[in-house]
Amino acid sequence: MSSKALSRALLRSAATRSGGVATRLRFGVCSSSSSPASSPRTLSTIQTASPAFQQFQQQQKRYASSSKHPKGFEPPSPSDLAELRERVQEFTRRELTEEVASLTDKSNNFPAEMWAKLGDAGLLGITADEEVGGLGMGYQAHCIVMEELSRASGSIALSYAAHSQLCVNQLQLNANEEQKHKYMPDLISGRKVGALAMSESGSGSDVVSMRTRAKEVDGGYVLTGSKMWITNGPDADLIIVYAKTVPDGGSKGITAFIVEPKAAQGFTCLRKLDKMGMRGSNTGELVFDNVFVPKENVLGQVNGGVRVLMEGLDLERLVLSAGPLGLMQAALDVALPYSHSRKQFGTPIAQFQLLQGKLADMYTKLQASRAYTYATARAVDEQGAVRTQDCAGAILYAAERATECALDCIQILGGMGYVEEMPASRILRDAKLYEIGAGTSEVRRMVIGRAFNKEYAHLSN
Ligand SMILES: Cc1cc2nc3c(=O)[nH]c(=O)nc-3n(C[C@H](O)[C@H](O)[C@H](O)COP(=O)(O)OP(=O)(O)OC[C@H]3O[C@@H](n4cnc5c(N)ncnc54)[C@H](O)[C@@H]3O)c2cc1C
Repeated sequence: MSSKALSRALLRSAATRSGGVATRLRFGVCSSSSSPASSPRTLSTIQTASPAFQQFQQQQKRYASSSKHPKGFEPPSPSDLAELRERVQEFTRRELTEEVASLTDKSNNFPAEMWAKLGDAGLLGITADEEVGGLGMGYQAHCIVMEELSRASGSIALSYAAHSQLCVNQLQLNANEEQKHKYMPDLISGRKVGALAMSESGSGSDVVSMRTRAKEVDGGYVLTGSKMWITNGPDADLIIVYAKTVPDGGSKGITAFIVEPKAAQGFTCLRKLDKMGMRGSNTGELVFDNVFVPKENVLGQVNGGVRVLMEGLDLERLVLSAGPLGLMQAALDVALPYSHSRKQFGTPIAQFQLLQGKLADMYTKLQASRAYTYATARAVDEQGAVRTQDCAGAILYAAERATECALDCIQILGGMGYVEEMPASRILRDAKLYEIGAGTSEVRRMVIGRAFNKEYAHLSN
């Protein structure tokens, strides 16, 4: 990530905070942008002055990955990432309060104004090119944003990830220049909402068996079929849709398309699903009844959709693995103060060894999961290494631990854990999704097992 990008992120966040007055807060140096005389000491001027920093930067450039990041990407430093985390925490304290999270859950409605707020704060294009409005900060940064948003609200964060990772990042990786410039700025500013539609009612884990058909016609393709469980589907302005261009071509007959559903004749969101958790992250069943898609809206290669899909799935699992991290932190945020203030038998319940054991387990599970997710993201940012088994492993581990932590949180709260006045039950309902969405725990184990089978194939023959 360039210092320019980070400065932009900080500036946007500061501008939003101060209602448009761009008070610059850069690495603890505060100055007003209205005074050109008081030129702020920026990160770049600090870097120019320090040979050690230059050497560090050069070393980082050597490791920077190219194919999964925008051109000229430089991995962020630990202090850049810490700064980003603080900014996102400021955002959630201001815009994504417990009241907003609870109302979103109870009403089962996404607060539509949140898209513009996320866009103004610079959070919708974390991995995207600066040229189209993104910040080009990479996957560690995206995990940080996802973790902090999930800590505040699991469902708003899930919708955020469907937009910023499943849709925006897929465009970043696969769209041509024309498509990027046409679609990404509005998605990154929050003016438009994005989604990705792969699953069907008959094709979840076995996604390659999808039945949605794209028939070539003059000037483009006609899509027919339906998609199920599509996050942001009821609200989306742009959906990346996978369909069969060669019906009996198996994995070699799938193509990805950019569909603008609101302008498309024949498109319907049949229903919004009523879910046990992630309520307010609007999930839809979508129907495509002879929807025309112009040929310039093919994303990637015709019949090359499975490559787009599988590569996207690795990075999707990685970024989504930060969701359970945020939920585990949220469970601790509830359980720690409660257990230290609630007294029974004249003693704070946190001082009973059986409850200490639960708190210690929650904390350890969170820290171990965090270490796995960020190590995997760092390998992507610094070495360009996307290891399928680690992307699947990080979310497999974090998701199951998050459900356990949420259950422990409820147990620690006793009766208050079982009533909706406290967020404990929402955290549990939200956490369970991560064992199912983006491939189930069973499929993730299968993916890891297959990686071993490949590695040790020479011993199996
Ligand atoms: C809230 C939510 C949001 C979602 N958002 C999106 C989205 O935005 N876009 C999108 O395309 N999809 C989305 N999905 C769909 C999601 O990816 C699928 O639900 C998931 O992949 C599982 O598919 P399925 O529901 O058909 O389950 P099935 O595939 O029917 O699986 C049922 C059970 O069988 C097990 N199973 C299946 N195959 C095997 C096997 N080979 N070995 C062992 N066990 C197996 C599964 O692990 C599971 O326990 C979302 C789902 C939910 C619930």
